[in-house]
Order: sequence, then C-alpha cells, then structure tokens
Amino acid sequence: MKLLLVCIDGMRLDVALPEALRDNPGFAYPDHPADPRFVRGVGEGEPVPKHPAPALDHTLPVDQAPSGLAPTLARLVRGDDRSQGTIIPMWMTPPTDSAPGWTTILTGATHEQCNVWWNEFVGHDLARHPDILSQVFFANPLARTIAAATWDAFVSPYGPGPIIHQRVDQQRTGQHQLFGPDLSGGIDRADEQVSSWAAWHLLHEGPDAAVVYFEGVDHAGHSYGANSEQYRNAVRHVDELTRHLVKAVAERHEQLAEQWLVAVTTDHGHKPEGGHGEDEVEVRRSFLAAHHIGGALPDPLLRTDPIRSHDVTPLLLKAIGVHPGFMDASDVGVLRDVKPVGPSREMDFEW
Ligand SMILES: [Zn+2]
Repeated sequence: MKLLLVCIDGMRLDVALPEALRDNPGFAYPDHPADPRFVRGVGEGEPVPKHPAPALDHTLPVDQAPSGLAPTLARLVRGDDRSQGTIIPMWMTPPTDSAPGWTTILTGATHEQCNVWWNEFVGHDLARHPDILSQVFFANPLARTIAAATWDAFVSPYGPGPIIHQRVDQQRTGQHQLFGPDLSGGIDRADEQVSSWAAWHLLHEGPDAAVVYFEGVDHAGHSYGANSEQYRNAVRHVDELTRHLVKAVAERHEQLAEQWLVAVTTDHGHKPEGGHGEDEVEVRRSFLAAHHIGGALPDPLLRTDPIRSHDVTPLLLKAIGVHPGFMDASDVGVLRDVKPVGPSREMDFEW
C-alpha cells in the first residue's frame, strides 16, 4: 500500500469539520496533562495553572460553528461504499509550537527523544530519529518517496531541521525528491506551488510514500486569529489544494489499481485571537484522518480512542505494511491483485 500524508499546519478541527467533534467524545478534552513548564501563563508573570487545566471558557460552541469549510476532509472522513474513511482524535503534548509538533508526528519519537522544543531546533537529534519517509526507505530500499513543503524546516538543507532527511544518494537516483516553493509571492501562492508539484509527481510517478505540507492556515491564524474570515478562507483554500492531491492518487487507483492510504493531520490549533504554543484545549486538539481509496481501512486505523502525536508514524507505517525494526516492508507499494476500474466516468473517483 502507498501513503499520502497531508500536513496542514495550525488547523482547528472545530472550525474545519465541527461535526467530527460531535461524533467522538475523544475530541472533547486532552487525554494527558501538559508539562507544567509549557502551560498558559508561564513566562508571562502569571501563576502556573494546576493541571489538568480547567475547561476553557472560549472553546468554540460546536453547534454554532459553520460547517462545510473543508469538503475534501469531510469526504475523506466519511468514506463511501467503496472507500473507508475515519478520523481519530489526537492530543498534542505542549509545547504546541510547530517544530516539536511536526517532529513528533513525522518521526514517531517524543519531544525528549528528538530534543526539539522550539522552532529553532536547537540541539536536535533528528539524525537518530528519521522521518516517516526515511523509515519506509530503510525498511524497503526499493521504495520511492517525495516531500513538498511550504515551511523550509521540512525539506530545505539550508533551513532549520530539516525534519525530512535529505538522503542525497536517493535524490541523485530520483528515488527521493524534495520540493520547497518560492515564497516571494506570499504563503498562499507558495502552498499552491507545493500542491501543483506534489500532484504532478503523485499522478505521474506514483511514489510509495509522500509527505505534503501546507502553511496557509497557520499563517492566517497568526495574522488574523482563528475566529476570522481570513482563517476560514485559508481552511477552504488548503482543503481545495488537498483535493488536488487526493484526485491524483484516486486516478492512480482507478486506472492502475494502486492501493493508496490518504492521511491528513495537523500540529496544533489556534487561539481565537491567534497564536499557539501552550496548553489551551483548542490549541492541543489535533486529529488523524485516514481514507483508503477503493478499500477497507487497515486494522491499525480501526480505533476511535485518542492517540498522541508520536503515535502517527508507527500507526501509518503499520497500516501500509512497514514493520520497523525488522527491515521488512514487503507490502510497500506492491500492486495487489486488484482489477482496475477504469478508465470510466464513475463519480466515485472524481474529486
Ligand atoms: Zn504549526
């Protein structure tokens, strides 16, 4: 099975897909307390709240939240007769800054193990905690991987991190391809470049595992806050860019019978007035959405209880047939004996 992991920075699920919160009480409250070093008020001269923190008075009234902002995410979660989808609650462990969040999500290791606490990555130990794409490759050296990201900490050899290993040898052979956009036209245009590049490579090359990262929602959250129309528009925009990616792999399934697992996640939410980093419920709340195009979800994803961010990589690896520690990924990218549907005009595959 092949993997497309879409990383949407700073997206509040209660804004993007409020119905998901209604359907699973696991989204209501964090399943583990925050480290008292990283709770609200620390560093601002206020008393340190006792944890578990009391419920916030400004959690979004879910029943009043607008729905329909993220139709692609909704369809992925909903699934249909042919393709199963799900969404699993996930609670981030403060500090809920982007670097520690994405590092734990993409390596399967904790803040302590990676030693990534802030966006500067001071003293990180990423070399010994390889990213999910590298883990696929280490398990199966035939695997082809791609990553595209608006934030340079994901893929740039000259930025902080990077979280995704360079693996230059595999870049030379085309087995590992990385893309970072031109940022001069703004974050939204950069996200569009990322989507275009990734969709092209997904559609025409069908890599075995892909990570694609969008920054627009987080950027709008920082600039205008999560209660703004700009934030909601950014959710709509990134959801549409996600659809382009899903369309590419759905076409591959339809015409080539490739088995694709599509996963979507985020690293933190945003406060109504903008910003993140501490232990607010709406900031710590995350999710792992998963969708198997043309099939049933693998067993590891058939759960509804909350996970933590460092569970994402082992869960997804297990789901696509990678068995870390055993150098065995014999199922990765394999074309199963599945009869292709198309070409057809069936709406099931039109995204
Ligand atoms: Zn972030």
